[in-house]
Amino acid sequence: MSSGTTYHVDPRCPDVQAFIGRLKQDLNAREMSGELKRIIAPAKFEEFASQHEPTCIRCKAYVGPRASHDNRSAIWGGAAVGLIVGLVAGFFRESYWQTVLYAVGIGAALGLGAEVLARVGSLLRRK
Ligand SMILES: [Zn+2]
Repeated sequence: MSSGTTYHVDPRCPDVQAFIGRLKQDLNAREMSGELKRIIAPAKFEEFASQHEPTCIRCKAYVGPRASHDNRSAIWGGAAVGLIVGLVAGFFRESYWQTVLYAVGIGAALGLGAEVLARVGSLLRRK
């Protein structure tokens, strides 16, 4: 297991979508800055996902792009995590899809970085 995000919830799971809806309503009802909401939203989502995933048949069965063992899996995994975070964080920004795109790009870049490091690491071990 790699470090970082440990949950694998299905973004299309009705419970996941219901949670995102509730989270959005909840945060919008509060008196706080958009900046704070953008920090809190992904953290709340992770907290929900870590509790929801073991109890949901659909999300348990959902393995996500990271389950694939080809070399691009880290990039796709990063992009998928970025997409989920971006979808949540985007609610609190005016440019919703721009935020989502940035998050996917950042996630993919982090995945690429992890993949490069893993490959360099395995090359060094082989020698
Ligand atoms: Zn679920």
